[in-house]
Amino acid sequence: MAIESVDVNPAARLVSPDPEPEDFDAEASLRPKTLDEYIGQDKAKENLKIYLQAAKMRGEPLDHLLLYGPPGLGKTTLACIVAQEMGVQIRVTSGPAIEKPGDLAALLTNLQEGDVLFIDEIHRLSRQVEEVLYPALEDYALDIMIGKGPGAQSIRINLPRFTLVGATTRAGQLTGPLRDRFGVLLKLELYSPEELARIIRRSAAILGVRCTQEGALELAQCSRGTPRVANRLLKRVRDFAMVIGDGSVDGKTAHSALRRMDIDEKGLDELDRNVLRAIIEMYGGGPVGLETLAAALGEEAVTLEDVCEPYLMQMGYLTRTPRGRCVTRYAYEHLGIRAPRAESDGQQSFDDL
Ligand code: ADP
Repeated sequence: MAIESVDVNPAARLVSPDPEPEDFDAEASLRPKTLDEYIGQDKAKENLKIYLQAAKMRGEPLDHLLLYGPPGLGKTTLACIVAQEMGVQIRVTSGPAIEKPGDLAALLTNLQEGDVLFIDEIHRLSRQVEEVLYPALEDYALDIMIGKGPGAQSIRINLPRFTLVGATTRAGQLTGPLRDRFGVLLKLELYSPEELARIIRRSAAILGVRCTQEGALELAQCSRGTPRVANRLLKRVRDFAMVIGDGSVDGKTAHSALRRMDIDEKGLDELDRNVLRAIIEMYGGGPVGLETLAAALGEEAVTLEDVCEPYLMQMGYLTRTPRGRCVTRYAYEHLGIRAPRAESDGQQSFDDL
């Protein structure tokens, strides 16, 4: 069968760590249900195990927990595991979904004793909503104003004791008072290729796909340290394996499928390479401001900042300086472009790096 018949949506960015609509169903089945199934993040996991055990021994809900780190690393998954391990229900919502203080009040008053309330993108809560959250977190109470003007009265409603699990990709954007109300802060790190390979093989087993260690490692190298990307690549490469191979994802199939999807051996896709190429070809290697670069590429600045840059910087291809973005000599090497030598125009010599 011709390769064009494989169902690959060219518009969706395969290596984006943000969830795509098609991820939602699959993510539920691939999500680890217990801490032991949760691969990697050893430091966060070990600490969390102790906090969970201590809370259980005291017969109290876990202290409020803030998870932070880039999208797709397993924050929602960990929140569900916390609820599972404590044997309680979880309510899932997100900062932008809680528009008014009344929305939050409705959520809080519906909780049962010990429940977990998970607020994704908690940095996007409005100030007004945050004000309502403070007494709820500290005293398990809601202060409600009744009436307006001089006759207005404040009444206090007691809430069941609950655990707030907040998740954010931008801990720096959280207000100080909100951050201070979390008893436990856990930072999630990008995963190593070996950890991602374990995640891929676990997901392959759940999906009923044969996947060799070489195949898993090949995909892991291109997954930007992110389980969500790893699982998505596995599903796309499975399509290639079914149509042009014998259905199993081995090193060779994974390698050729990734190249067909325009993802190179370092996990960079077309947009990543365009960013590097634009800085080199249009701005002499940088520095160039983010907005200027985004305009030149016809992309949103926030996409470049949140999706491309963290990985390009982690790989050592890009640096952020006070004057703008610059590429490193590794970017030149990766793209096969000759790096400039020391010039009189003040450009840095890559030979000195
Ligand atoms: P986030 O909330 O940080 O954006 P999610 O918790 O939704 O990320 O994780 C995305 C997907 O990645 C999940 O569906 C899950 O299948 C997978 N995943 C995340 N972390 C792990 C892990 N440690 N082990 C196995 N799979 C994981």
